[in-house]
Order: sequence, then C-alpha cells, then structure tokens
Amino acid sequence: MPEMLGADVVIIGGGGAALRAALAAHDRRATVLVLTKGELGKTGVTALSCSDRMAFHATLEHTEPGGPDPWRYHAEDIYRIGGRVSDASLARILARGAGAAFSYLDKLGVPFARRPDGLADQFVTDGSKYARACYTGPHTANHIHAALTAEVRRLNLPVLENVAAVDLAQDGKGRVVGVYLADGRRVKAGAVVLATGGAGQAYEVTVFPEGMTGDGYAMAYRAGAELVNLEFIQFGLSSVKTRLACSGSLMRAWPRLVTEEGREFLADYFPRGTPPGQIYTVLFRKGASWPVSREEPSHIIDIAVFSEMRKGHTVHMDFSRNPAGLDLAKIDPALWAKYPNLAALPPSEPPYRDSPLARLRAINAPSVAWLKERGVDLEAGDWLELAPACQHFQGGVKIDEQAATSIAGLFAAGEVAGGQHGANRPGGNALMDSQVFGKIAGQSAADYANFVQAFPPSKPKARHEPAAATEGEPIDVRDARKQIQHLMSTYASIKRTAKGVKAGLEELAELVKRPWAATQAGTEFLEETRNIALVAELVLTACGARAESRGPHLYFTSRDAIQPLPRKDPAWQVYNVIARGPGGRPKLEARKPVPPDWDLVQPTDA
Ligand SMILES: Cc1cc2nc3c(=O)[nH]c(=O)nc-3n(C[C@H](O)[C@H](O)[C@H](O)COP(=O)(O)OP(=O)(O)OC[C@H]3O[C@@H](n4cnc5c(N)ncnc54)[C@H](O)[C@@H]3O)c2cc1C
Repeated sequence: MPEMLGADVVIIGGGGAALRAALAAHDRRATVLVLTKGELGKTGVTALSCSDRMAFHATLEHTEPGGPDPWRYHAEDIYRIGGRVSDASLARILARGAGAAFSYLDKLGVPFARRPDGLADQFVTDGSKYARACYTGPHTANHIHAALTAEVRRLNLPVLENVAAVDLAQDGKGRVVGVYLADGRRVKAGAVVLATGGAGQAYEVTVFPEGMTGDGYAMAYRAGAELVNLEFIQFGLSSVKTRLACSGSLMRAWPRLVTEEGREFLADYFPRGTPPGQIYTVLFRKGASWPVSREEPSHIIDIAVFSEMRKGHTVHMDFSRNPAGLDLAKIDPALWAKYPNLAALPPSEPPYRDSPLARLRAINAPSVAWLKERGVDLEAGDWLELAPACQHFQGGVKIDEQAATSIAGLFAAGEVAGGQHGANRPGGNALMDSQVFGKIAGQSAADYANFVQAFPPSKPKARHEPAAATEGEPIDVRDARKQIQHLMSTYASIKRTAKGVKAGLEELAELVKRPWAATQAGTEFLEETRNIALVAELVLTACGARAESRGPHLYFTSRDAIQPLPRKDPAWQVYNVIARGPGGRPKLEARKPVPPDWDLVQPTDA
C-alpha cells in the first residue's frame, strides 16, 4: 500500500469542528492535514444547514443573570437539561470556553447580530432559562464555516478534498497512527482528530445533508474506542418536501393536523373528553419545543404524527381552516402574550380567528413565501407534509477533558464526540461545542503528536476489512441503504420498544448477511452504507438497553401504547458506554457520569 501523505495532526472532516481543530493544532506549531469528503464548504452540516434562526450558545460578560462565575448557570443547564447523563466536567469546559469561542469567531468576521449598544444580541433557546443564543440569522453555521475556511486558506493549511476516510490505521499496540482512504492510500499521522459529524443518513427522513453517514462512529468503533449515549438522537417534525423544521410560528398558527384523507387525529392521542382548548394549548407549545423530549408534554404531538404514519398514513398541516373545536376566545391570551408578533394581533377576531393562514401570514409572512418558492403554496390550499426528521446526535465517541478518546492517538470533536451532552441538548450548544472542543482537540492532538515523536510507532496493521457476505440473494447496495433507513425510522426514532429493537436488529442482521452489489453506486457509497449498518446496530443496541424514557428516547411497552414509560430517576442516571467486545460484537456497560464539583447556583433536578 503506497504511503503518500502525512502530518503531525491529521483531521478527518471539513466542518466547523475540523477547521477549528486544524487552526488550533497549527497554533501549536504542528503540521496539519485536513481530509474531507467532497469540496470544503460543500459538505457537512456547518457548511450547508440552516434554519429560521440558527443559534450559537455563549455565556458572555453581559449574559443574564451575571454575577460571579456566570458560566455555572450555563454548565448546570447543560447537565440538568441533559437529564444528568453527561459528564459535568465537560459541561463546565463548554460553558467556560464558550465566550472565548464566540470572540474568536467574532474576530474572524462572523457577522453576529448586535444590540443598539453594540453588544451581541442573545435570545432564549430550547431548554435554557437565560438568553445566551448569539446568531447571525438563518445562516449562522454557514457564516461560521465561511470565516473558518477563510482563515484556513489565509494560513495555507493543507486541505485534501474529495477523499473519504474509511478506517483508522493502528500500530501493534493499538495506537492510531494514520488513516486509510477510500482510494486505497494510507495517510501517516502523529495523531488523528475525528470531526466527521453525525449520522443523519441512517434515517429515512433527515435534515442532514447527503454524505453524513456516521463514518466517524464506525471507524472509532472498529478501532476499539468507546461510544456513549447513542440512544439520544434529536428528532423534530419537519416538512418532507422542503426539510423545513416545522416549529415556531407554523405550530402557533394552529393549523389542522390531518392524514391524507383529511382526518384530524390529535384528539385520539389525548384522554377521552380532553377539552379542545387543552389540546390546542399543547399544539401551540410544540412551537417552542421542536425536538421531541420526554420532559416536554408536547412530545404527544410527535407521538401522534408518528403513530399515524406507522398505520400507513401520511400526515399534513392544513392552513386553510381551523382545526375542529378551536375557539380562540376560550384560550388564555397569556399563552401568546410573550410572543411580540402575536401579542400585537387580535387572534380571537376575524380574519385571525378563522384562518390559520391569516395568522401565519401575520406572524411569519416570509415562511409562506419561502414554502411557495419550494413548491408548497399554502395560499392555493396546498398541504405541508410532515414527518419526524433526524437533526442531531447527542452522543458519540466518548471524550475526556482533553478531547481524547479511549484509544491512544485518537481525538474527537463536534457532533461525532459524546459525553459532553446528555439526553437533551440546549439549542445553540452544538455549534458552540464544535468550536470549544474543536480547539481543545487540535491542541491536544498537536501535543500528543509532539510527544510520540520520541516513541516511533511500530508498523501499522492492515485496515479492518469487512467479512465477505455470502448468504442469500445479492442486493443492490442502494436498496440495502434504503432498508436500513426504513428500519431505523421504524424502530429507533420516535417510538422505541423492546420488541421493535429486537426486530430491527434481526432485520439488520439478515440484510448484512447478504452480498451487497455496488455496481452502479460505487465503492464509496458501499463503504458508507456499511458504516450506516454498523451505526444502526449500535444505536439499536443502545435503545434496547435503556428501559425508561429520557430526552428524545421514548420507550413504550408496545408499539400501540400512546404514553411512553416514565423517566426513572435516580436508577437510570447512568450512561451506556458501547465498545467492541469479544467476537467484534458490541459490549455495553452502564456507568455513572461525572457529577458537578462546583457550588451549584440553581437546582439541577429537571
Ligand atoms: C438543520 C439543522 C439546524 C441546526 N441548527 C443548529 C443551531 O441552531 N444551533 C446549534 O448549535 N446546532 C444546530 N445544529 C447542529 C449543528 O449545526 C451541528 O451539530 C454542527 O454543525 C456539526 O459540526 P461538525 O463540525 O461536528 O460536523 P459537520 O459540520 O457536519 O462536518 C462534518 C464533516 O466531516 C466530513 N466527513 C464525514 N465523513 C467523512 C469521511 N469518512 N472522510 C472525510 N470526511 C468526512 C463531512 O464531509 C463534513 O465536512 C443544526 C443541525 C441541522 C441539521
């Protein structure tokens, strides 16, 4: 195998965490090489994804409530919202490092919104008590990516584009000493930073871009690293056609939620006789809690949509008329009083009283125009098809305070890393995490690479080749991928049950036994699909091991049950760590996370 390239620090990925790691390693005088699938700026979530207002969470000098060590409020929010299944030591690092991460990006020219006094404007996001979310608008992540890219280019840091890493090269002692690429080359490394993002492509409906196939989780697992909290994956109701996250104003306009036959179904998921006003209050509240979560009563809306889909229906938002029984005169105006663009309306008077579309136009006209441009004309009476979409992996490759994984020479940062967040994640924390731990990973990798120069590694072992599958009829790899995505959406998304997890693992095992033909799709697609299959096995295993509900992990006694099992505290305040066990099978261990060791400023009970 030709050994063509190398650097002290090799970074896999070209997103926000990867670029921050590259800059930090360069600052430590390490030679750096960034490897990315596709072109820089044209792959990954940081470069491509957007939403109505993307948040970057940071505790700054002027952030409420102030006082001594204000980072404690932020760290405690991360730990509490996470359901106390994350390491508080990592939450502390995030909260303390967020201000510096913000300043770094600000100096690079990210156009963060300002208040009239010139300070960064901040708003409150999901799960946080205080306003910490900085933003530029819908494209905060893209602006961050562009600024980091410009800095990487200015410093002439080497970036190898259009290369997919397929495996980590390890020496005889198991230390990571390089990376195998899909084209057969091996890259030599003093240390490797994994920054490959999440695995949205493991699901049928996702707001992730193409190419996000969980390669980092799979490579780390094959190398023997520990992964944690894999059952905690963020899902939210999104438009199937446009991938728009359907929260905020879309829910607060009170549309009808209907099946393809026009049947309203929400009331079927509330106790018989629940007054409509109560049901529509929950629908309104869904607007403020997009990700599904056991701790938010509005999770019943996601359960209702998912259950109808499992019965074979499609589900839609209809803005042309009011849902049955909605009487705005009977809904407490305090509900909408805190939303400035709603408070200014008389929602209980015509036309707002009678038409979800009139309400939506009044509170968020751009969303109506945005949807029309993408082929959904609400004004012409089009319905908006909905489904729960995968948006973020809360868990990942387990890291410590230095962003080191459990394998020597391997560091991880950004969405691929785990342990810093628990079951839920405060909105805005993922982008911040990519910068705080991206920097730490780059620095730690540079220091490690410098250190190991004195101890040359032994010859690397060959890559972990997948065993040739021979049982049953060959299947086109594109069909195999679709089947995995379908089984993951069926058994490991909104409703999880012991029986479903078992069925999912069995279906997966059958599929993996069959030979996959890559004739049309190419070998990179085949490698990615193998990784998706491995991620699916690990996620299903993690789901089956948590017999309670917490965060987005809703566990049911049967697939027809409507109410998820309760959260079981303190018994389940443990996280599940998965690593390769005997025979290459996943081995699972429940462990106690690191608790806070500072003087608490607020109660940590959720
Ligand atoms: C629609 C949407 C809205 C969001 N909104 C917010 C928000 O408002 N606030 C917030 O904090 N977070 C938000 N998130 C989450 C957040 O944006 C991501 O978690 C974060 O950007 C991930 O950054 P990353 O650097 O870890 O990964 P990414 O930016 O996804 O980068 C991963 C990189 O790895 C590369 N790669 C993958 N596999 C390989 C391989 N085998 N070989 C080589 N390269 C590889 C990819 O090509 C890509 O360049 C949102 C996510 C989505 C999808």
